[in-house]
Amino acid sequence: MVKDKKVEYEPVIGLEIHAELKTKTKMFCACKNDPDERHPNVNICPICTGQPGTLPVINREAVAHVIKTGLALKSKIPEITKWDRKNYFYPDLPKGYQISQYDKPICLGGELDKIKITRVHLEEDTGRLVHFGHIGHSLVDFNRAGVPLMELVTEPDFTSGEEASAFAQELQLILRYLGVSDADMEKGQMRVEANLSLKPIGAKELGTKVEVKNLNSFKAVRDAIDFEIKRQTKILERDEKIVQQTYGWNESKGETVLQRTKEESHDYRYFPEPDLPPMITNTELVKEIEAGLPELPSGKRKRFKSEYGLADNQINILVNNKKLAGFFENVASELQELEEGDRKKIVVLSANYILGDFLGLLNEASAEVDDTRITAEDFAELIGLVHRGAITTSTAKEVLKEMWATGKDPSNIIDEKNLGQVQDVGELEKAASKIISENQTAAADYKKGKEASLQFLIGQVMRETRGKANPETISGILKKLLR
Ligand code: ADP
Ligand code: MG
Ligand code: ZN
Repeated sequence: MVKDKKVEYEPVIGLEIHAELKTKTKMFCACKNDPDERHPNVNICPICTGQPGTLPVINREAVAHVIKTGLALKSKIPEITKWDRKNYFYPDLPKGYQISQYDKPICLGGELDKIKITRVHLEEDTGRLVHFGHIGHSLVDFNRAGVPLMELVTEPDFTSGEEASAFAQELQLILRYLGVSDADMEKGQMRVEANLSLKPIGAKELGTKVEVKNLNSFKAVRDAIDFEIKRQTKILERDEKIVQQTYGWNESKGETVLQRTKEESHDYRYFPEPDLPPMITNTELVKEIEAGLPELPSGKRKRFKSEYGLADNQINILVNNKKLAGFFENVASELQELEEGDRKKIVVLSANYILGDFLGLLNEASAEVDDTRITAEDFAELIGLVHRGAITTSTAKEVLKEMWATGKDPSNIIDEKNLGQVQDVGELEKAASKIISENQTAAADYKKGKEASLQFLIGQVMRETRGKANPETISGILKKLLR
């Protein structure tokens, strides 16, 4: 008999992602949907606290948000969708069931970055338990009960923690671009669950999966999956079996912890919600939503490349910060009248300043683009001045700081502070001659071919003119004098 070769395994991962939708009111009642409410049990009513005799009313805005998300992800929007009750007992669930969608979700199929999407459906969030260990009991806050919650399920298409985390990040960005959710993971507005199994490399049949819940950062998504791959590999290599179970993620220990044996869907006794009729999709509404879809991150990345020729790392920073990207585009459009060749150059220059000095100022002040007093128009003016050589780059930094502090426009600042670049060639030649005579050795070295000596001389002339001269002009003058 041939001795068994060691079996190699590959991971199979699918994600379930919940996102709290940004709507004026809750899913089935008129209570305010306010994730920032600090006082408990303020936004509640008989419907979202599950009082007998109340009836749910569907929130149109929430349905539209889910359709919008589906369209952005190339899902199909079926003509008929329906609501189902998912029954379970927990103190944060006042009705004893959650209204969700079981077999007829609002969106079917779809794709994002080569990952297939199974479905996107709508349900309601639960309340929140607050535990007071020191007084020995827990309290419940129902402000979140009944908040519209969207759930997206992917096919088991991921093969690593990194891939899954990148997908979740892109989805977060898309939800923000669409304006359907703030999807802040720290605030629990977006919650990721990973399903993971291993199978022998190349095998068709999937292995038994484990679900990991409570992943509340992208890092946790990546680390928990990578940990679970290792844990399951060890079990299989010992010839033991994986048990279908639900785990949580212990961030500080960096390991998954068993929570409970996984429930099957029959444990929830799903049945059609008797208080809500099935929904017939309004095709006009779908068309309207589709026509109004904003540019998505992937489209913006492509356009920033083709239209402005920015570098990939610059594009990523801008696209991840929609407001900054908007500011950049406003500056670029201010620079529209320039000649084609010049325009490309100057737009790249403006991106450099926005992602360098400007972003630096924003970060230093922990401010957002909206908070600045600098207008796109003034910013474009500043970039124009640098481009034409009217001010040096070091002056530009100074002017920008002043613009940030005072909101004044660049030409005013330059006049007030007498920062304009020395343009008088005669004056520059005089300074250059003086520097050459004071630095005979460097001048001789340059003549012998030492490039560094020229740089040194340029620096000396810059100092002499107190940084107000353009180094390229000085270089030209020095070369002429040293010929
Ligand atoms: P459940 O009913 O337990 O929630 P689903 O079939 O609805 O299971 O799948 C939930 C998620 O688990 C989906 O993202 C799916 O892609 C993923 N999944 C299903 N089977 C497996 C498996 N064997 N290994 C890894 N992921 C899986
Ligand atoms: Mg599940
Ligand atoms: Zn309510």
